[in-house]
Amino acid sequence: MSNKAVIVTGAGRGIGLAIAKSLASRGYDLALVDIAEDTVREAAASIKGDGKYVPIAGNVADWDSVQTMVNEASEALGPIYGVVNNAGITRDGLVLRMKPEAWQQVLDVNLTGTFYFTKAVSPLMMRQKIGRIVNIASVIGLAGNAGQANYAASKAGVIAMTKSVAKELGGRAITCNAIAPGFIATDMTHDLPEQVKADMLKSIPLKRLGSAEDVAAAVAFLLSEDAAYITGQTIVVDGGMVT
Ligand code: NAP
Repeated sequence: MSNKAVIVTGAGRGIGLAIAKSLASRGYDLALVDIAEDTVREAAASIKGDGKYVPIAGNVADWDSVQTMVNEASEALGPIYGVVNNAGITRDGLVLRMKPEAWQQVLDVNLTGTFYFTKAVSPLMMRQKIGRIVNIASVIGLAGNAGQANYAASKAGVIAMTKSVAKELGGRAITCNAIAPGFIATDMTHDLPEQVKADMLKSIPLKRLGSAEDVAAAVAFLLSEDAAYITGQTIVVDGGMVT
């Protein structure tokens, strides 16, 4: 495949935008997906490079929206080589107090959204007999965290789905892997109480928060030829925090 095209969800800011910028610098064409139209248009315009960077607004948790977005991406970019399922949300709270809606919203975006994109791109990748699916999970999906039962369950689900999809699609040279970031400095973590941040920092052997670029580098590796024989795996990018 020349001009490899990759869809990145949640690409309007944070880790998703860093992934998009990193992939653009490596020569990929991109469909940037995000829920807010203005945000994703600005994100696509901010990317420097010689490729095509197409903004697509839609909701990863809505099946009709996902099918429309994948069609738009294919029409604009041609064959889809990869998808990076990065869009994610938190709605934290102890189980005792967690509203059922907060449970459901997080499962809908983080887990079902990843399933919808995987389902929508699978037939395209199977026809091409090549493809890469990279799912952004979290160390919380491996270790759990008080106040994040919904988020932990969604990310553990993503890790388990990754292994299953790897087994289903491996016969067509499609790989499916996950990345489990630790504590990464983005808007999602910016608003945590200072004490929580300080405690987390103490538990990181590499003594710094991760950057969105640290995660983007692992994504670029999994999309590269060097990772052709890796599938069903979860790469932990956490400065040694959990492992
Ligand atoms: P972020 O800054 O909140 O960015 C997430 C992006 O996803 C936002 O642009 C958001 O749009 C978009 N999004 C949310 N719901 C969506 C939906 N239904 N459809 C389409 N787009 C949607 O988050 P981040 O910190 O970059 O995290 C990115 C991924 O990494 C997530 O899956 C997260 O769980 C994972 N992760 C993050 C950390 C960390 O420390 N930051 C650690 C481990 C894993 P709006 O802003 O308009 O809602």
